[in-house]
Parts: sequence; C-alpha cells; structure tokens
Amino acid sequence: MWEPVPGLPTRYNNPMIHEILPVGPLQCNCSIIGDEGTREAMVIDPGDDIKNILALIARHRLQVKQIVITHAHIDHVGGAMKLRAATGAPILLNQNDYALLKMLDMQAAWVGMPVPGKVEIDRSITAGETVAAGSHTAQILHTPGHTEGSICLYFIAEKKLIAGDTLFAGSIGRTDLPGGSMQKIMRSLHDTVLALPDETVVVPGHGPLTTIGEERESNPFLK
Ligand SMILES: [Zn+2]
Repeated sequence: MWEPVPGLPTRYNNPMIHEILPVGPLQCNCSIIGDEGTREAMVIDPGDDIKNILALIARHRLQVKQIVITHAHIDHVGGAMKLRAATGAPILLNQNDYALLKMLDMQAAWVGMPVPGKVEIDRSITAGETVAAGSHTAQILHTPGHTEGSICLYFIAEKKLIAGDTLFAGSIGRTDLPGGSMQKIMRSLHDTVLALPDETVVVPGHGPLTTIGEERESNPFLK
C-alpha cells in the first residue's frame, strides 16, 4: 500500500529538468532528472547509449549524484557501469534483483545485446526510502511482478511516476521471464500503482507516456 513519506514536499517547487531518452536496441526510456538551481541530477535506467546520456548531462551542466535502476534487465542496467565510471555516481538497485544481475550474460544472449560485463551495485533501495536530485525528491515504491526487485519512483510534488517495466500505456510488464509473477504484478498495480492520483504522469520503461487516470480507465490488463 502506498503512503507518503512524512515531511516530503507535496507541492511543486523549482522547475524540474526531465529528459527522456530511448536507449539501446530495445529503446528503454532513460530519464535524466535535474534541479535547475543546484544542477544536481539522477539518471534512471541508463541501459545503453551512454555517450548520448553524457551529452545531455553536459548540455544541461548537470552533476550526476546517483544512478537508479528500476530492475535488473539488461536493457535498463547495461550501461550503468560506464555511466558510473564517467560520473562517479553510485548505482542503486533493489536487492531482490541481485540474482537477476548475475544472469546478465544469459540476458544478453536472449536479446542479442553484447555482454556488458559485471555490474556492481553500491546500495540497495527499497520501499519507503527516497532518492533526490537537488530539491526533486522521489519516493521508492517496491512493485514486484515483472521482476522480484522492480521499483517505481514517485515524484509526489511533480506528480510523476517513473514506472520501469511495471506499467505501460495500454499494457503491463511481462511476467514470463525468471523472477516474474502475474499474481505479484497484479497486486503491485492494484495496491500500489493505482493508489496514486489520476493526474500522475507515468513514464513507462518503454514507449509513450500516459497517466494513472488514463490507464485506470482504459488499460485492458487493469479491468
Ligand atoms: Zn524489464
């Protein structure tokens, strides 16, 4: 069940820089989120195309403070080590996906991507914790189902959800890969994701943006 963390700002403060950049052969939506005042930033799901991500970071004159991974599928985590090497920022992932990380070579073979090498996680993040880029703070929601360690990032003040592969416009994440569970993803969607306000903008892990209201109304998997 979703509950706001006490003390979080619930109103919009500074304008938020938010670049969404589809990366790699599977076009994972990588988000660069930055604070216009402090120039601090976080990068979510740097799956590939790190050069393009770094170019956007340089254009906005941002300093990356953390690299957040919504789940340990190769198209979301494949470029994390390169980005860490370039920025010095720590990599954050929920510990329930550490087992999947050990299967990156197998994942690479499934999707025909080059093997990215070993990915080291600096810290686990889980429900109730927050991550911030300057004044822009996201609450971590643990939403297992697509994978055991899948998380979403909820920016309450900005009314935005970075959903990873849990929810898509008109669809939901697949549950037939190792660690997937249809029962768990349905529970995560109904108890946690759909508990958010209708006007929340959803940035899925792939494809176009949507809103919670739109998906509540028309997503065939949520009927
Ligand atoms: Zn995935």
